[in-house]
Amino acid sequence: MNFPFDDFRELLTANQQFVNGFQHSELTGTAKKGLAIITCMDSRISPLAVVGMQAGDAKILRNAGARVTDDVLRTLVLASYLLGVNRVLVMPHTDCRMAISDEASIHTTIREQFGVDTSSLEFRTVADQRAALAEDVARIRTYPLLQKGVSVAGAIYNVSTGELEPIDC
Ligand SMILES: [Zn+2]
Repeated sequence: MNFPFDDFRELLTANQQFVNGFQHSELTGTAKKGLAIITCMDSRISPLAVVGMQAGDAKILRNAGARVTDDVLRTLVLASYLLGVNRVLVMPHTDCRMAISDEASIHTTIREQFGVDTSSLEFRTVADQRAALAEDVARIRTYPLLQKGVSVAGAIYNVSTGELEPIDC
């Protein structure tokens, strides 16, 4: 069996505890609160907790920088027609590496430290986080294949205070 147990052992141990206390058997794949959150992969963010929700309530989409990519749009189309999503919150955060560094410097850092050329990738760094957020929100609002009537908002999560700041998009 090709499973690297040494690297993942404590996860499986913790899962046993999780299974023992599991209480979500009745949930379906529909978002009970009709919400999708697009946020960053940053490990300081617990998206459901930030907005007072729990398993079953919302769809969570994550990537570096909370950017609205083609794959995010594809997922939102499915979520809006088939999984009960009627509102979308795009939620980047303060102190995000994607908003602090520029594209070239991240490629350079990886090349210098690891000897790998990543220039074929677009990391989608942002020079102006609020402007990028407005652009991403607009991209969802104007996406023709999305279910009509989906409400889309942008807010920045403060990783120092936990506060969510609504942004004019
Ligand atoms: Zn981030």
